[in-house]
Amino acid sequence: MLSVYDVIIVGAGPGGSAAALSLAHSGLRVALIDKAIFPRDKVCGDFIAGHGIRVLREISPNAYIRLINFPQKAENKSTLLFIGNTKPMEFFWKNKSYTIRRVDFDNLLVEEVVATKNIDFYPGHAIKQIKRVGRDFELSCQNGQMFNGHLIIGADGAHSVVARQLAGYSVDREHYGGSVRAYFKGVKNIRASANEVYVHKDVVPGYFWLFPVGDDSANVGIGMHSRHITKHKVDLKARFYDFIEQNPVLQSKLGEAQLEGSLQGFGLPFYSKEFKIHGDGYMLVGDAASLIDPSNGEGIMLAIQSGKMAAEQAIKALKQDNWSEAALAPYQKAVNKRWWKEMRAKAWMVNVFAHRYRVLYAVGWLGNQSPTLRRWLQKLM
Ligand SMILES: Cc1cc2nc3c(=O)[nH]c(=O)nc-3n(C[C@H](O)[C@H](O)[C@H](O)COP(=O)(O)OP(=O)(O)OC[C@H]3O[C@@H](n4cnc5c(N)ncnc54)[C@H](O)[C@@H]3O)c2cc1C
Repeated sequence: MLSVYDVIIVGAGPGGSAAALSLAHSGLRVALIDKAIFPRDKVCGDFIAGHGIRVLREISPNAYIRLINFPQKAENKSTLLFIGNTKPMEFFWKNKSYTIRRVDFDNLLVEEVVATKNIDFYPGHAIKQIKRVGRDFELSCQNGQMFNGHLIIGADGAHSVVARQLAGYSVDREHYGGSVRAYFKGVKNIRASANEVYVHKDVVPGYFWLFPVGDDSANVGIGMHSRHITKHKVDLKARFYDFIEQNPVLQSKLGEAQLEGSLQGFGLPFYSKEFKIHGDGYMLVGDAASLIDPSNGEGIMLAIQSGKMAAEQAIKALKQDNWSEAALAPYQKAVNKRWWKEMRAKAWMVNVFAHRYRVLYAVGWLGNQSPTLRRWLQKLM
């Protein structure tokens, strides 16, 4: 069976759903395709930065209301930063941000897509092959279903088929991170409003996190640069358990907590190099476009915003009946303009400082004495 669309969005994570919701009232024929059946989990820290929430609200006030009304989440007001064994510094944030399990967040976005009725949603459809047919694309699924579309938005995450087949993408370990995370319940001495970040010689270049997700549960994980993992043959899973075991602060919180499910890992394609994220008839968004902040691993906000930007460019291109590489180039320009300078500076900072733990410890000690240094640190976070 062949289904024909103007825009085909591959992947219904935050990037794909944001693109779909941005196209909901465009009058275009839009399909949102995902290999998973929802609700489905995604290995993540589950923290959604305030700016991502603001953009989501602009794209879809209803999706925002679904999020606000969803009970099982934590509203974050501050970050507690533990550097070495110094007293933690607390940074308070103006914008509302949330920590919500991705199984819930992604599902509520998809529910909103389905409720708009203007988008055809195809869960359980894994795209295997993308072929050019004249000016259009033909996409074939593992289950035999075929799709035909003018334009593709690749939102299929870190292992994107669209990025590989259309943009020739392959993993670059110099611009990649590895990460593991697990849920714990029965966690003690935490505040739902405060996310906890641990910078320590055993976890740099990277960090350990403990993000409350409501009640006495928390998302707990560790992330590191792939270059370091490969060079030092780091076993992230073992490092995760050892770090908890040897850290007295974490022992007081997690010592008697119960692991829910298992410890799971996933990759993070960092935006520390300018990747090709558009071409004839396609644009990449979110992780498929390697849009993850190299300093902290955040990608949900960038996925939502790039999804919106790609949708806006798709509307313009289809109105002009021109979806060539040149016609879609403003999308890549807009993404680079919005983030590239910031991400390049953060990547530089990670390269220079992140493994010099003595410098970081000195910053932790001085930060506790100096409000000016704390303000400066807050700007970098
Ligand atoms: C351990 C870890 C912790 C993280 N913590 C945070 C955090 O706290 N905050 C933050 O902002 N970011 C965090 N990130 C990054 C964040 O998870 C990603 O940036 C975000 O999920 C990107 O969203 P996306 O929509 O681009 O891709 P995804 O969320 O990966 O969604 C991609 C979708 O595409 C579908 N798909 C894949 N292949 C196909 C196919 N062939 N056909 C059809 N569908 C397909 C998948 O099923 C999936 O639903 C973390 C990442 C990791 C690994």
